[in-house]
Amino acid sequence: MEENSNFIKTIIKEDLESGKRNKVVTRFPPEPNGYLHIGHAKSIVINFGLADEFGGTTNLRFDDTNPLKEDQEYVDAIKEDVEWLGYEWDGLFFASDYFDEMYNRAVLLIKKGLAYVDDLSADEIREYRGTLSEPGKESPYRNRSVEENLELFERMKNCEFANGEKVLRAKIDMSSPNINLRDPVIYRIAHATHHNTGDKWCIYPMYAFAHPLEDAIEGVTHSLCTTEFEDQRPLYDWVVRECEMEATPQQIEFGRLNLTNTVMSKRKLKQLVEEKYVDGWDDPRLPTISGLRRRGFTAEAIREFVKAAGVSKGYSTVDAQMLEHFVREDLKLKAPRTMGVLRPLKVVITNYPEGEVEWLDAEINPENPEMGTRKIPFSREIYVEQDDFMENPPAKYFRLFPGNEVRLKHAYFIKCNEVIKDDNGEVVELRCTYDPETKSGTGFTGRKVKGTLHWVDATHALHAEFRLYEPLILDEEAESEDEAENKSFLDQVNEKSLEILNGFIEPNMKDSQPQDKFQFFRHGYFNVDPKHTTEDKLVFNRIVSLKSSFKL
Ligand code: ATP
Ligand code: MG
Repeated sequence: MEENSNFIKTIIKEDLESGKRNKVVTRFPPEPNGYLHIGHAKSIVINFGLADEFGGTTNLRFDDTNPLKEDQEYVDAIKEDVEWLGYEWDGLFFASDYFDEMYNRAVLLIKKGLAYVDDLSADEIREYRGTLSEPGKESPYRNRSVEENLELFERMKNCEFANGEKVLRAKIDMSSPNINLRDPVIYRIAHATHHNTGDKWCIYPMYAFAHPLEDAIEGVTHSLCTTEFEDQRPLYDWVVRECEMEATPQQIEFGRLNLTNTVMSKRKLKQLVEEKYVDGWDDPRLPTISGLRRRGFTAEAIREFVKAAGVSKGYSTVDAQMLEHFVREDLKLKAPRTMGVLRPLKVVITNYPEGEVEWLDAEINPENPEMGTRKIPFSREIYVEQDDFMENPPAKYFRLFPGNEVRLKHAYFIKCNEVIKDDNGEVVELRCTYDPETKSGTGFTGRKVKGTLHWVDATHALHAEFRLYEPLILDEEAESEDEAENKSFLDQVNEKSLEILNGFIEPNMKDSQPQDKFQFFRHGYFNVDPKHTTEDKLVFNRIVSLKSSFKL
């Protein structure tokens, strides 16, 4: 497929043509403080995709400069997800491996008179910073001598101070119209064990200082990030320049991806997981890569979706139905067709000989005949869907009702003659007759019926659990509105987002493996759940239903 153009590609092309760059190096820099979500997939596709297109390289770099929130579990999950999405990194790096170098560059800034140790508290620093309309105020510690700063910074490093007692700040401009340049904090004290460096450090670099250095150390040429970092670009360039880095990476911002009816930021996802609104980071209702994978979305579908959503500066909330469209497209020719009854209602075919079984032929995928055929048993007792029967149907109801005839997919016409109810008046069984003349595949044209139902044979069927999903968050724009309107997304959690049903499936599915995908006739695409499936029972997650009103 020819890749569409976008503004980042245009910049890279110009850089290569003008000789400003002779190669392209990008990086995907997740902080290992949570699992990846589909927004990260956009960043992955862009970073790996662009490097690939221009013969460059891409690093996977863990931006692990905050020991308080990071964990090895997240590192492992992120690697798994990037690989699963289909990408191979060239270098695998940890920002924490550069802590020595970062420290040395901070010392260089102090020596150049461009950084100072400040004793103001976090609150005071905020107060002194000023606002968009008012300039900031200089800290009384701003003019410490280079010697004093060097000594204090070294003592910070040697863990002589408590958390928050001192910070290192870049000395830039307290009256800059860009608040990011009003002497940003570049190092803070945190007595905490780091997942990679252990207890070696008790001072940690701030993101705005660390990130440009990480990029420069790795020789990244184009540092792609989301637009909330746009105002930090002047600081990014200042750090690279004043720290006298050899490489000069360029930061370019693109718009974040959001989906309707979900939340995306790791903080919110983490809250949903920790407060048990969902069953782990890989809950099939979450927009995490591991959740989408467990639900049954394919890497191909996610990549195509992200590409179709496009690369622009704008922040976009994309209709989740668009993602569903791409998984249907991907599975159409790949997923075997099968039948499953989610809410079973027994049907006895009274004129079918007792004890007899016939094995009917059915195509595995009529849209892809190469997939061959399967055998489906048929006998005197079958299950149909409860929804496919109505005792007193409205006009234009073509499914089962007393006196009506329907087609059973791959089998025969059956006619409903009698309705059996329990003591509460609930329908528990239908008595039907079949017409042997109408067998599927024999070319019977004697009469027509309007309804075609799916079914499974009652004596051979396997038990199965079906998990049906609705959006987790009721509010369409939850991710973007939440903070602005100061309302909690937790109030918007859909209590009916998961429905669990126990039904039956065709016996030929008994060897299905976790992550196998099927199209159940009339019900949609399903994935064999890797977490809940056991030797005895397959558990299916519905990925998507069959139809959508969504048009690209
Ligand atoms: P979150 O706010 O969800 O926690 P983050 O930006 O803090 O995300 P990082 O781990 O720092 O997460 O992100 C790694 C990379 O992925 C960054 O370059 C970031 O800009 C990008 N990214 C994160 N979320 C999105 C998104 N929704 N759309 C596009 N890119 C994203
Ligand atoms: Mg972050």
